[in-house]
Amino acid sequence: MEMFSIASGSSGNCICVGSNNVHVMIDAGISGKRIEEGMNQMNLTTRDMAGVLITHEHSDHIGGLGVIARRYGIPIYTTQGTADAIMMSSSLGKIDPGLFHIIRPDEEFTIGDLTVRPIHISHDAADPVAYILKDGKKKMGVITDLGYYDDYIIENISDLDAMLIEANHDVHMLQVGPYPYPLKQRILGDRGHLANETCGRLLGEVLHDNVKQVLLGHLSKENNYPDLALESVRAEVTLGDNPYKGTDFKITVASRSSVSERIVV
Ligand SMILES: [Zn+2]
Ligand SMILES: [Zn+2]
Repeated sequence: MEMFSIASGSSGNCICVGSNNVHVMIDAGISGKRIEEGMNQMNLTTRDMAGVLITHEHSDHIGGLGVIARRYGIPIYTTQGTADAIMMSSSLGKIDPGLFHIIRPDEEFTIGDLTVRPIHISHDAADPVAYILKDGKKKMGVITDLGYYDDYIIENISDLDAMLIEANHDVHMLQVGPYPYPLKQRILGDRGHLANETCGRLLGEVLHDNVKQVLLGHLSKENNYPDLALESVRAEVTLGDNPYKGTDFKITVASRSSVSERIVV
């Protein structure tokens, strides 16, 4: 299996996951042009995508969806709540309702030889999910936009070979930063985003000897920066009640604007 990030951050998200036979895209929160350019860098095209899995209806996850749906007719997989919210959104233009495949959290479905498991996440959207994908041998996850984690999340992501996981903000940067108070409260709340430290604690719960690589993603532009996210996450893993140090694993940061390396498991 392989995974790469075309863009990850509060300014737009698009992640590609594939097996030897089939590729899918998770979210389309950047322009159709940027998606295609990113795919081309990895010797793929948007047309190669067998589906686009949408996590939730916030614009940083669906901004380019209207264009790619109309241009390429790619099947759209998402929950009913998210599909309804997308259809009501005026900014995307018209999307053929026939492209939607309604999926449910905790119910696996297949796209080619990929088995996809959507899992509930706590976020201020209609019916948001994260996605776990496996090809029969290996398993990867894309877990962003969640206000907190619990045993359900830990159980679902404790046997991944590689993952992209949210390290959204540094709590202190957010608290002293320029955001208005209600927005700070939203981000810090149970339906907001995972802080660097919380991401590190979650990783401490789910890391195992066979984790090949962790990609930190969905960093806030104003309230985080890559080195800080990396160091905070590593420190939490090292301090946590687990057998590992933060430096035992390959942990890298997905960029908001450039394509990541190809992670192969
Ligand atoms: Zn987001
Ligand atoms: Zn969101």
